[in-house]
Amino acid sequence: MSLAKRRALVTGSTSGIGLAIARALAKEGADVVINGFGDKAAIETERSKIEKEFGVKAFYNGADMTKGPEIEAMIADAQSKMGSLDILVNNAGIQFVSPIENFPPEKWDAIIAINLSSAFHAIRAAVPGMKAQKWGRIINTASAHSLVASPFKSAYVAAKHGLAGLTKTVALELATFGVTANCISPGYVWTPLVERQVPDTMKARSMTREQVISDVMLAAQPTKQFVTVDQVASLAVYLCSDAAAQITGANLSIDGGWTAA
Ligand code: NAD
Repeated sequence: MSLAKRRALVTGSTSGIGLAIARALAKEGADVVINGFGDKAAIETERSKIEKEFGVKAFYNGADMTKGPEIEAMIADAQSKMGSLDILVNNAGIQFVSPIENFPPEKWDAIIAINLSSAFHAIRAAVPGMKAQKWGRIINTASAHSLVASPFKSAYVAAKHGLAGLTKTVALELATFGVTANCISPGYVWTPLVERQVPDTMKARSMTREQVISDVMLAAQPTKQFVTVDQVASLAVYLCSDAAAQITGANLSIDGGWTAA
């Protein structure tokens, strides 16, 4: 149990990659706060399953990642419920696919808020505690789209490039405080977020479902396989270990070779 006595918060962890990261941290002994939207009963089931399976404390906070004050309150709540906040995983994210001339401005604003600004608000609130205790891990779920672009994803690509820049800046500011900040940048991971992109991409590119999966999604991924949520979660656990203390400011690809091309 390499993370016993660590306390973690994972944003956007009621589903997909975030849930896998929260569960993996708990499996290593960390207490966790999960966050995100969804069916209240299903969220409570996931929360109590974490406690029962891994023998840690698990809490849920429903803060909306578009709202700075709610994010600040969530960090304070995590610190007071768990005693401190050692590991912050900024993972919440949404996607919208459209040619730029039709891109709805409200979708642009929502993507920038959830995929980029929420990390700023959470880091800003969590850093004083991490600095004081001289130990912390900040992990931002970025994307291959923090390094390269794809058409029709202007807001997402802009937000993820921004998140990579934010990560590097924070890493430099915290380098002498025992706090690391890194990005994990997955390629295509089969989660509800990816599944929901299929219909819009079919429309935008006039393709069938099978064509979108093979010619758009896995076309970019030389291994021709989706990344799994557990592979991403394992990298997050590694970044929280003492072995990773000198990894900071990095943007770690887990993308089947996509960004090597
Ligand atoms: P997902 O849709 O399964 O999960 C997204 C989570 O964010 C959910 O828990 C959802 O409730 C939460 N969320 C959305 N809006 C929110 C809000 N306003 N406030 C609070 N929570 C909110 O998606 P996923 O695929 O697991 O994506 C997680 C992260 O991984 C995202 O940042 C995404 O950009 C990134 N990512 C995903 C892939 C992929 O292929 N799935 C690839 C690269 C990066």
